[in-house]
Amino acid sequence: LPLLIKNGTVFDGEREGRACDILVAEGTIAKTGRNLPANGATVLDAEGHIVCPGFVDIHRHTDTKAYTGWDGGEMLRQGISTCICGNCGFSLAPATDAQLAFSAPILGNPPENPPGTFADFLDGVKRHPLPVNLGALIGTGAVRIAVKGFSQAPFTPNEMDTAVRMIDDALCAGAFGASVGIMYIPECYGTKAEFAKLLSPLGRRGALLAAHIRGEGDSLVSSVREVLEIADDVGCSLEISHFKACGASNWRKSIHQAIEEIERARAKGQDVTCDFYPYDGGSTALSTMLPPDFVGGDMEGALTRLGTKEGVAHLRSALEKTYPAWDNFALTLGWERILIASVSDAENRRFLGMRVTDAAAKYGFDDAAALAAHLLHTDRGKTAVINLSMCQDDIDTVAKLPYSHVISDAIYAETDTPHPRMFGAMPRFWQDYVVQRHILTEREAIAKMTRNPALRMGIADRGILAPGARADILVFQRDCLRDNATYAAPARASEGVKWLIVNGEIAVENDAIVRHDLGQLCLREA
Ligand SMILES: [Zn+2]
Repeated sequence: LPLLIKNGTVFDGEREGRACDILVAEGTIAKTGRNLPANGATVLDAEGHIVCPGFVDIHRHTDTKAYTGWDGGEMLRQGISTCICGNCGFSLAPATDAQLAFSAPILGNPPENPPGTFADFLDGVKRHPLPVNLGALIGTGAVRIAVKGFSQAPFTPNEMDTAVRMIDDALCAGAFGASVGIMYIPECYGTKAEFAKLLSPLGRRGALLAAHIRGEGDSLVSSVREVLEIADDVGCSLEISHFKACGASNWRKSIHQAIEEIERARAKGQDVTCDFYPYDGGSTALSTMLPPDFVGGDMEGALTRLGTKEGVAHLRSALEKTYPAWDNFALTLGWERILIASVSDAENRRFLGMRVTDAAAKYGFDDAAALAAHLLHTDRGKTAVINLSMCQDDIDTVAKLPYSHVISDAIYAETDTPHPRMFGAMPRFWQDYVVQRHILTEREAIAKMTRNPALRMGIADRGILAPGARADILVFQRDCLRDNATYAAPARASEGVKWLIVNGEIAVENDAIVRHDLGQLCLREA
């Protein structure tokens, strides 16, 4: 049935808000204008409400959920109508046992029949209804592990051919681009020249590179420079993921130097943008705090060694050093700013929500390194942590960049204590950055959550309220859309969604989920 949204203030994703009605029919926006007649349509009275495109979250680790099916309530309750998975070098395909175990802190427990290829992944997604529209990137971490495990050795020519073909096949199947996770093992062993070769299909096919860069602490600036050069070599557009400066000694300083690098590249015509999540804490796998030298290309061996006295002593000494191209958060941040967010061994549940230092003291470990080793060993690397690594001034600086997008970076580890961004990123951004602190105007904030990220992915007909566009529409009261999730109580739904319409039908009404099967699979147009 057609819907007529009347009397609202419409922010179309680009322009300033204006009084306007919107007629929705057959999944698309049929008409916009003043005083449109109902003609039998169901009327939704949006008097006193903002009407904007449903939020577009281009960085959300929903890969496994999309493949196995889920209700997506954590997204719908935030007003999200479209998400993109496959970020940070992690994607479900090409799946191998080693890669599935490694990515569990990000993507959740492996599915029963993991997808061999990206096309298999898409086939799996099509077998279940989707709560929101979903697109995907191919993760080059998954590709590298499939081709050569966790080895430190450079790609042989044959391995490189295989890897390049996997990426090209994914693009042909509909991936919006590729993501790298250069910070992570084993991608951290890759050189700039290797990445440029590996990613060459992106340039040929006009697809996007989303980059989790090599370092976000002491090596932020050189890491930004590195991905700028890689994208320039490849000839592709670049999205710098969760752009931030970690570690107190870098705050209010290195983000500005990194922005200078980006703006120099933009001035030369390079297509570079970035994104951020509106929190001062990040979330990742505890295994990322293992120095690459310590792992030595053998993650399984390293996790086993951490169960021995010698292994713990070795880790402790390895974490007392700095490394030229790798951020040692044990030093630059300190274990007291690392919270234990999810574990896989039931015995480890007693540590959940605690700072590593507090948990180590409370439960009689020699020190934080000893507890970290214990967690990594007994969870087989599946522990996830929240690191309170950022400062608000820096996040505001990135938020104000005209070319930044808002993301959640929600990770889907099996846990009761996720990062609060999973449930609250978009409403938090609205409430904190617009309503409370006036960092951005309503128009600017909405563009960062709708039109701009959709266009970044090459999705032209979403994230905009214009005739002919897909009808993904969010209606809310300015002051009432808010997050409820905190670090201490993260699994709390957001509130304030009057209506969320996905592909022309009502998915959420007065914060209640009405439908969770309205999403569509989005594919890159060749
Ligand atoms: Zn990442």
